[in-house]
Amino acid sequence: MTMKSRNLVRIVGLVILAATLHTIYAAEPVANITADEALARLKTGNERFVAGKLIHPNEGADRRAEVAKGQKPFAIIVGCSDSRVGPEVVFDQGLGDLFVVRTAGNVVDDVALGSIEYAADHFGVPVILVLGHTRCGAVAAAVAGGEVHGHVGSVVEKLKPAVEEAKGKEGDAVDIAVHANIRNVVKQLRNSNPIILGLVKLGRVKVVGACYDLDTGRVGMVE
Ligand SMILES: [Zn+2]
Repeated sequence: MTMKSRNLVRIVGLVILAATLHTIYAAEPVANITADEALARLKTGNERFVAGKLIHPNEGADRRAEVAKGQKPFAIIVGCSDSRVGPEVVFDQGLGDLFVVRTAGNVVDDVALGSIEYAADHFGVPVILVLGHTRCGAVAAAVAGGEVHGHVGSVVEKLKPAVEEAKGKEGDAVDIAVHANIRNVVKQLRNSNPIILGLVKLGRVKVVGACYDLDTGRVGMVE
C-alpha cells in the first residue's frame, strides 16, 4: 500500500468514527432545559435557602407519582458527603430534580465517574455542578497530612494535587485547597474521555464549579 492510500484509509476511518460517535450521542435524549436555565434554577433555589424562604418544591404525592414513571433531573451535583451540604436542601429542590453523587471531599473515582456519565448520557442532563464547601473536613485532613486509617487514604490521595497547589500560597491553606480541588475536579470531568468530553464538545453538557459557605448558606461560583 502506498503512503497516499494508507493516509486515505486513515482519513476514511476517522470520518466513520466521527459519524458513529455523532450518531450515538445524537440518539440520546436532549434535555428540554439549557445549562444556563438549569444554573439559574439552582441559583434561585439557593437564594430561597439563604433567605430562609424555602418552598420545598416537588415533594408531594403527585410529584412522587410523576417521577415513579421516569426521571428527568435537570442538574448533576458532584458534592461532598458532609452532612451539612445536602444538595436538595441547599438548592431547595425536590424529587427527581437533582442527580447527586457525593463523596468525602467531592473527589471523583471511576465509580463516581460512571454514575455521572450515566446521568449525563442517559437523561441528557445539561449541567454538572461540582460543589465543594468551606472548611471541608476531608480537605483539612489532607492539608494536615499525617497518618489516616483504612480507606480514608484513598480520599486523601485524590486531594493531594489540591494540597500541593495550596502550599506556599498566602491565606488559609484549607480554603485555597478547597477551591483548587473544585477546579481540579471540574477539569477532570471536562477532559474525561470519551463520554463527558464528547458531550462537552457537542455542547450537550456544561461542567462548572461552585463552593458552599457553611456560615451564610450561599453557593458561589468558582471560576
Ligand atoms: Zn467536605
